[in-house]
Amino acid sequence: MIRAGMDVARINFSHGDHATHARNIELIRQAAAAENAVVAIMGDLQGPKIRLGKVVNEPILLKIGDTLTLTTRTNDPDVAAADKRVFPLPHPEFVRDVRAGHRLLLDDGAIEFKVLTATSTDLVCEVVVEGELRSRKGVSAPESRLTLSALTDKDREDVKFAIENRLDYIAMSFVRSGKDMDELRWLCRYLNADDVALIAKIEKHEAIEAFDDILRASDGIMVARGDLGVETPAEEVPIHQKEIIRRCNEVGKPVITATQMLQSMVTNPRPTRAEASDVANAIFDGSDAVMLSGETASGRFPIIAVETMSNIAVIAERNYDRGARSNRVERALLALGEARQLGSVVGENFAVATSRTASVLADVLSARAIVTTTWTGSTARQVARTRPKTPIFCVTPNETTLQRMALVWGVLPIYVPEFSTIDEMVQSVMRACYDQEIVEFGDVLVLIAGMPFGAGSQANFVKIHRVGEHGEVPQTRIAAAAANAKNS
Ligand code: PGA
Ligand code: MN
Repeated sequence: MIRAGMDVARINFSHGDHATHARNIELIRQAAAAENAVVAIMGDLQGPKIRLGKVVNEPILLKIGDTLTLTTRTNDPDVAAADKRVFPLPHPEFVRDVRAGHRLLLDDGAIEFKVLTATSTDLVCEVVVEGELRSRKGVSAPESRLTLSALTDKDREDVKFAIENRLDYIAMSFVRSGKDMDELRWLCRYLNADDVALIAKIEKHEAIEAFDDILRASDGIMVARGDLGVETPAEEVPIHQKEIIRRCNEVGKPVITATQMLQSMVTNPRPTRAEASDVANAIFDGSDAVMLSGETASGRFPIIAVETMSNIAVIAERNYDRGARSNRVERALLALGEARQLGSVVGENFAVATSRTASVLADVLSARAIVTTTWTGSTARQVARTRPKTPIFCVTPNETTLQRMALVWGVLPIYVPEFSTIDEMVQSVMRACYDQEIVEFGDVLVLIAGMPFGAGSQANFVKIHRVGEHGEVPQTRIAAAAANAKNS
């Protein structure tokens, strides 16, 4: 899958145990090292997913108009007798927030109930959309304002595991507010991890309403279309997708579009045309990353699915100007009034100005790459934000940043030893790029950096550089390259 184009692997804490996850993490790291690839690992917390308890004599066929009771009184003898139509819902903290008149969606919306009466323990419901009721099916209440804790005890254990195993990102499910993200960050700090990158999964209606606050409190966002399409009407998901991505692009935080992207490839070796279109359009919308779930976790064609997604992405990016036409107009407008319009949002005017300049320079000069030397990765994110036609090399001596950059649009992360002067930086960058054979003698590069080097300097330096002009790459290879150039 790495060879096929995988940049980030998700460890889903909704499945499996820590021993299995530890083995997978080790496997990913070994394979990435063997392939000389940077592959980030994202731990995805299960979150407070509400599920039915055990349904006796399942499946229970429910018909429109039937009434039934969901109860937290799981020890009640009535609950065991299925014909009484009382089913266990062992989540008192959920039931207490549901009111009469609210809808309940079960099994990703396949079954729908309307709540007739609600007490602190029981929800008497009428079946609105019929179906077969089974144990452990997910329950959501799109109209209810849930006050239950954002992190379950299991999530807390999983956060500890993620930190101990130095995962590059931690994703939080069913986020409702910026406060939920703050709570996760405090937990990480409490566990002595004060520099973790947190992704908020947008999959609840509350999250749509509180999006700005969530974005402030997060290092990245996931458009989690699976649950979002249950919590809000599926027909509205495309609108939310575009809006969420646009806001992430504005502030230069990575955004992942997820779920059912190549769903049919769980069982088929070819995608549907609609799926190919969906992946391409997610990229035209401005996604940094597109994610596969069941396709690679349990599908029959995991490698072909990654290859397919990668091919669609490459072709979409080659045609980005055509595909993202509305974006382009918007980008042009933003470029004009950027300092004023975005200054207050981004708060990094030098970085905005220099990143855009670097992108334009690289385009005009047909540069091989825009090379960002960065400690925190913020310069690379700013450059990526402008969606240049030129590849972005993120050169960093910071291994944490190196790994994290795998998620960011158009960025190839490259490790270099620490440097302190501009000359050292140029030397170091050229050597690393040349050794990896990603630049050739005579290539034009546009360098962008914040000086003095280190965390906290915003990008304030742009340099045009021709590879080899300061004798910074080995002479023998320059001679060989020059001879090659002459011969071809
Ligand atoms: P999940 O999140 O796969 O963990 O449920 C993604 C989604 O809901 O789309
Ligand atoms: Mn989800």
